[in-house]
Amino acid sequence: MTESMMIVNNLDELLYARRFLDRPLGLVPTMGYLHAGHISLIQQARQECNSVLVSIFVNPTQFGPNEDFTSYPRNTEGDLHLLEQAGVDLVWMPSPEVMYPPGYQTWVEVDNLTKPLEGSMRPGHFRGVTTVVAKLFNATRPDRAYFGQKDAQQAAVLRQMTRDLSYPLDIIVCPTLRETDGLAMSSRNTYLDAQQRQAAPVLYRALSAARADYEAGQRDAEGLRQKVKAVLAGEPQVSLQYISCADYDTLVELEQINARALLSLAAFVGKTRLIDNVVLG
Ligand code: AMP
Repeated sequence: MTESMMIVNNLDELLYARRFLDRPLGLVPTMGYLHAGHISLIQQARQECNSVLVSIFVNPTQFGPNEDFTSYPRNTEGDLHLLEQAGVDLVWMPSPEVMYPPGYQTWVEVDNLTKPLEGSMRPGHFRGVTTVVAKLFNATRPDRAYFGQKDAQQAAVLRQMTRDLSYPLDIIVCPTLRETDGLAMSSRNTYLDAQQRQAAPVLYRALSAARADYEAGQRDAEGLRQKVKAVLAGEPQVSLQYISCADYDTLVELEQINARALLSLAAFVGKTRLIDNVVLG
């Protein structure tokens, strides 16, 4: 751990500052507007690594044309304060121009794993994610990179990319941190008004009800999807976009659950799109 937190905005500074970081180096990529979920990733990195590098970059290429790139919440000063308190060594905060200079034309794509779920609802999203994370890996060369189970498909896609491109690092997936009422912490929760915020925990209640069925012996995937739908039907402010019960590793939809599975959903609460998931088995 270095004595005070360094903050860098361009590649030369990053490469210089990196030389002062002890190994193993843990990387925690974020889009900022940090909450306790992000901090839990940093704490795990702090425990397992001798230095911790956090990136803050709202990556324009992973947002669709009708998504919330320009309105995505930002709070640099508050973020830096939290990172300093969390004992972070280096913060990498590039501008979009540093990451994607004029004439930029190189992309990283993972094939099958990006097709269902978030990939089918958000065309181009994962191409943006894998490209920016590959660039972060190349520039920071971490020994371990930390991601949240909250974005389960993202974690699976990045594990695949890391394997396929032979990055010499470990992907660590950390549990989803939740508010006391069960709502998964997310920077986007700030979009919810008071009524929507009250309604939103139904997402985790629905997933938990289905998980309870699974634990009681239900192995029919459609039965679990229907359970989630039935619970959500009781909350008129929530509109389900998809509910999936898929193989944990391949993300292929299941009929019967015979191995570890991922029960995941996306739903609109008002105009805010939220995702959540639980692991079965
Ligand atoms: P984001 O800033 O939303 O791109 O998230 C940065 C990282 O934090 C990603 O790896 C997310 O999966 C992770 N993350 C976001 N929310 C949570 C949460 N509630 N619990 C654990 N990790 C999270």
